[in-house]
Amino acid sequence: MPTRRAAPRATPAAATAAALAAGRRAVAELPGVGPRGADLLARLGLERIGDLWFHLPLRYEDRTAITAIADLVPGERAQVLGRVGAVERGFRFRPLLRVALEDDSGATLVLRFFHFNAAQARGFEPGARVLAYGEPRPGQAGLEMVHPSYRRLAADAEAATDERLRPVYPTTQGLDGRRLAGWVARALVELPGDDVLELLPAALRERHRLPSLAAALRYVHAPPPDADLADLAAGRHPCQRRLIVEELLAHHLSLRRRRQAQRALAAPALRGGGELAGRLRAALPFELTAAQERVVAEVGADLAQSAPMLRLVQGDVGSGKTVVAALAAAQAIEAGHQVAVMAPTELLAEQHRRSFAGWFGPLGIEPVWLAGKVKGRPRASALAALAAGAPLAVGTHALMQEAVAFARLGLAIVDEQHRFGVHQRLALRDKGASGAGVPHQLVMTATPIPRTLAMAAYADLDVSVIDALPPGRTPVQTVVLPETRRDELVARIRAACADGRQAYWVCTLIEESEQLQARAAEKAHAELAVALPGLRTALVHGRMKAAEKEAAMAAFKAGAIDLLVATTVIEVGVDVANASLMVIENAERLGLAQLHQLRGRVGRGSARSSCVLMYGTPLSLLARQRLEVLRGSNDGFEIAQKDLELRGPGELLGTRQTGVAAFRIADLGRDAGLLPVVAELADALLDGHPEVVDALSSRWIGQAERYAGA
Ligand code: ADP
Ligand code: MG
Repeated sequence: MPTRRAAPRATPAAATAAALAAGRRAVAELPGVGPRGADLLARLGLERIGDLWFHLPLRYEDRTAITAIADLVPGERAQVLGRVGAVERGFRFRPLLRVALEDDSGATLVLRFFHFNAAQARGFEPGARVLAYGEPRPGQAGLEMVHPSYRRLAADAEAATDERLRPVYPTTQGLDGRRLAGWVARALVELPGDDVLELLPAALRERHRLPSLAAALRYVHAPPPDADLADLAAGRHPCQRRLIVEELLAHHLSLRRRRQAQRALAAPALRGGGELAGRLRAALPFELTAAQERVVAEVGADLAQSAPMLRLVQGDVGSGKTVVAALAAAQAIEAGHQVAVMAPTELLAEQHRRSFAGWFGPLGIEPVWLAGKVKGRPRASALAALAAGAPLAVGTHALMQEAVAFARLGLAIVDEQHRFGVHQRLALRDKGASGAGVPHQLVMTATPIPRTLAMAAYADLDVSVIDALPPGRTPVQTVVLPETRRDELVARIRAACADGRQAYWVCTLIEESEQLQARAAEKAHAELAVALPGLRTALVHGRMKAAEKEAAMAAFKAGAIDLLVATTVIEVGVDVANASLMVIENAERLGLAQLHQLRGRVGRGSARSSCVLMYGTPLSLLARQRLEVLRGSNDGFEIAQKDLELRGPGELLGTRQTGVAAFRIADLGRDAGLLPVVAELADALLDGHPEVVDALSSRWIGQAERYAGA
């Protein structure tokens, strides 16, 4: 077992305990919920009354007024009251129900349904009175609402409008939104005052002008009739801000806590004379950049400590992260410890294996290779070597499996490719299982992440940035073209290869299925081979055997192949300096970070390189904007920032693993500006009020933490 230094345990203040106790009763105790309701709520992770207080509205609907149909504004949700003028049911391509609604303003609104049952359709007889709420959009004949929520009114019934804005909560199948809203409202009756609920010290709240928690919760669940809907929709109201800050703070603190716990463990202090690293450096065909030198020094200093390093190295594609990792490995090996280098895909892991074998082989150190596909005798001998203390292992996350036992793992290097999370990082610490303590961890991101986001997602790591590229690179020129101009591209490839250059043709598909991807790539390969007679072509996709892939890649690297047709498996790691042209099919289907990563496969040498982003038509506005970002910038950090603005953080970070997308009210794309305040509050709390830290985390992260037992 890893040794654990005694960590001081704070006793929660009485108020903290009371705050937790207040919301602890089971939801089934609320009037109207019962065991059936409790089951539904459990699906939303809501088990206690206090959980409902923190189940926050996604948005609000204004049904306090009725808008005349003639006054509807496209895009602005509104409520209308009208009579059914005409009904049309169609079945041409798919079922269709269109209902023309008229009111005294003389205008007509079409309600359009694609899914409906017979009873619903019968309900719309001409003359029926209907109260509908939805978003009007321009249609074939005037404005229409697609799938509005609606209610039929009896001929003489009054159309009762809401007194307040209606909060809309995230719900689950089988649980009507209004019922859920009713339960939340009922739970709020039990909301205690700030004397019990508030966890943030008054001085901190005043400094950052944050309303009290009880006030914020009441406001957000039931904004007054005159509340500014636009402010609320934008998450700008001070009461929302208060909750956003608290939620971000809770997540940030929980990461910091994990970090503290991790740092409290003992790690081997990896010091040596630097002789091995010196020999490695001497053999390099280049000088390190100043940025690389700085990061090597930061990492080296961490490794020499007896608290485990937890460091993230960020750097743009091609900034030279691998050699930095290799120098760290040399330091650990010289100190007599083992190093594991891990990558998320086999192809990338193979690339690292080649790089590390190239650097360490001449120094008498052969990396041990371990991937999921290594079975039988090779696997047994790899495991035996690691157990016997072989200094260097390279592979996929197979290296982290339970069966793999290291004799004295001192450093784990993880190339993250935005899909590795906190949990895996934690799992690593058990790999050091020896008297020597837990291993140091060096994480490299293949995708730069904006600073603000890194602060949120990686609050458990120190961050080093390699902020310059090695000299002598010519920026890649990026072109955006419709697929209708495919023939021109074929000509371009022919010209580039005639010039002695090499090219990539990358196939993408929306489907996650490797099989479909592979088939698309096979088809493209066959077509290109016909269109480009005389060129030596090869194919690489995820369904091929590792040895086949490796052979194709090696041939391409050696210049024996002119055109490599591939799926996105080549996203990371592939390094062929003579390749100067890349065509990406259906580029609009990929994320910006992924495109930037792919594009980084060219422009590795000194030749002028280009990347053609080919898109299928028609192209949506957002897709066009995204491709334009790429055309306009070669800077991964800038691209990541734009991607964050355009698409939110989930895409950048890989949502589930990091948990950052599971926010109730915060939205990192929108609220990243609050992160400095969050970091400041976190420092203040950890320093002065450690007793509230756990309460805050469990209040907001509740379920996940409870189950993970973290
Ligand atoms: P990434 O940061 O994207 O992982 P790599 O580590 O794969 O980048 O490095 C990209 C290429 O640049 C490799 O061929 C590597 O050998 C080379 N390289 C790394 N550092 C330097 C340097 N200081 N000068 C010149 N080339 C370098
Ligand atoms: Mg890399």
